[in-house]
Amino acid sequence: MDGEKVSARQAPKLLPVEERVRTFREVNLGYKEEQAKREASRCLQCPKAYCMTGCPANVNIPQFVNEIRKGDYKRAIEIICETNSLPAITGRICQVEMQCEKACILNKKGAPISIGLLERFVADVALKKGWKKLTCKPSNGRKVAVVGSGPAGLTVAGDLIKLGYEVKVFEAFHKPGGVLVYGIPAFRLPKDVIEKEIKTLEEAGVKIFKNVFVGKTITLSELFEEGYDAIFIGIGAGAPIILNISGVNLNGVYTANEFLVRTVLMNAYLFPKYDTPIDVGRKVVIIGGGNTAVDSARVAVRLGAEEVTIVYRRSEEDMPARREEILRAKEEGVKVLPLASPVKFMGDVDKHVTKLETLKNQLTTIDSTGRPTPIPIKGSNFFIDADMAVLAIGQKANKVFTQTVPEIKLDIDGYIVVDYGAKTSLDRVWAGGDIIGGTATVIQAIGDGKRAASNMNKTLSKSMQ
Ligand code: FAD
Ligand code: SF4
Repeated sequence: MDGEKVSARQAPKLLPVEERVRTFREVNLGYKEEQAKREASRCLQCPKAYCMTGCPANVNIPQFVNEIRKGDYKRAIEIICETNSLPAITGRICQVEMQCEKACILNKKGAPISIGLLERFVADVALKKGWKKLTCKPSNGRKVAVVGSGPAGLTVAGDLIKLGYEVKVFEAFHKPGGVLVYGIPAFRLPKDVIEKEIKTLEEAGVKIFKNVFVGKTITLSELFEEGYDAIFIGIGAGAPIILNISGVNLNGVYTANEFLVRTVLMNAYLFPKYDTPIDVGRKVVIIGGGNTAVDSARVAVRLGAEEVTIVYRRSEEDMPARREEILRAKEEGVKVLPLASPVKFMGDVDKHVTKLETLKNQLTTIDSTGRPTPIPIKGSNFFIDADMAVLAIGQKANKVFTQTVPEIKLDIDGYIVVDYGAKTSLDRVWAGGDIIGGTATVIQAIGDGKRAASNMNKTLSKSMQ
């Protein structure tokens, strides 16, 4: 490649659309080695790396990209793992277009470096070759409990095991991984990738206990009585927001949580091998505009729905879901109906949903989120046929755990309040990820986890002196 002029951003290979709509196999097939090197060669190696300002995990992007260019993949993964324990995951699902790639200087001259795909490339090589091993310091005799095994909890576990702590993770579900395993479908994030990343942590000594709901199976004070020196809470924000309209209780109306947990975690699409059938409709409406809405729509396509429509209240450009995934959904036949507000669901004599009544919206002034406010237009009512509907309008803090620990200060919406060091109001308890509010992205959860682990270590190291 030396001397060759390389400038075009490399496009990854995708699974053909005809195959996609029949399977849960991964859609984006990533880079081949030659493509990865070409893409890495586009990087300007900026002395002031703007890309890094967009990464909450503070990955040294120019350095790892340079190692890929040179073909030293082992060094590249070492650099990434210094600050990010889950690169095969973040390389696939990070909102790079809103983070590191948005900050890349090459946006000014054309297309940014494909940082996500390069990270994924090298993380996959490392997993395949068995290179990804965590180097751990000798035991320091301290014990830490982590509640919840989503990206926030796993990051804390990875960072602290490396520093010589004994780390035990308690997970309410029968599988670790949080939303990565029960929300995000395998066609975006294959299950074996998550399993391999978690295995790396287990091989380093992290112990994961499944089917343990902290607050019910065991309380926080009982954990302290068992001798833990500190506790991290990374329980996510798993309570669905329910649309407050008539007909929402009709049969065939699901929350995205239920729909995705049944398919993604309980393998409903593999019925009868797995005994969790789901009766997917012919005409499906999905309400919402985020990643959860787009994932639900693409799952419905793969379960055999004939017509899948995403109903969103603002314009398509305002949808918070990743651009790439909206594009893939449309290729797979999903329709997007923007500027529409649901009014009510209508049902048949068996109380099964048959239609959604909606109003057209117009966009007005910019709200606090920086997006235009949608206002329904009086008298613009219209109907969409639907024999199944999925509500994907957001998640909120689940209070089942927090109400068992009234000493932990919550904000008005039930999220845990933390200081800059991710410390809660309760002594020796830290928190991070979706349960402290914020952007609700995987990389933000990882960033929070890093911040918490570093401050837990600082506090505990002082008390060891
Ligand atoms: P979670 O991932 O929610 O994990 C929390 C874990 O804690 C869960 O396993 C839960 O079972 C466990 N738990 C809860 N209570 C207890 C308890 N009391 N005791 C023990 N365990 C408990 N983000 C992106 O960056 N890119 C995407 O493309 C993307 N797509 C998404 C698609 C969907 C469908 C969804 C729902 C979310 C998506 N997100 C995406 C958001 C991202 O997944 C979350 O922001 C992230 O997973 C939050 O991590 P977390 O560790 O805080 O919590
Ligand atoms: Fe490379 Fe873009 Fe980062 Fe510059 S800003 S170092 S070009 S990835």
